[in-house]
Amino acid sequence: MTERRIDIVSGQEPPTCPRCRQEGLLLARVPYGWTNEGGVAVEGRNGVVLCAACDTDTPYAAQLITWFHVHGTVEAGHSEEFLRLLAEWAEQISVPPLDRQRLETEIEQWRRGRAART
Ligand SMILES: [Zn+2]
Repeated sequence: MTERRIDIVSGQEPPTCPRCRQEGLLLARVPYGWTNEGGVAVEGRNGVVLCAACDTDTPYAAQLITWFHVHGTVEAGHSEEFLRLLAEWAEQISVPPLDRQRLETEIEQWRRGRAART
């Protein structure tokens, strides 16, 4: 298993969450790779925003969000704990964009279904 490199993109301004347009906690560039229909390996990097509002239901994101609540910013240091949480979270989100689109559609449908029941 090769180690996947996750880049934390830092800037003057906090990242904007593409989903709710609020300030996100973290912008990371996560590598992804899969084989397309022609058998060609496709690799790239996906910019992903961790958002305290949108990611509460994302696997492993809650722990990372809690970390930010406790420590404030990544500036506090890339502690081992932080890197572990980041890696676990990134593992969940780095699926191919096409699958991700389908996943998000399913999540959306699930949310609507849940909202309808309550
Ligand atoms: Zn959001």
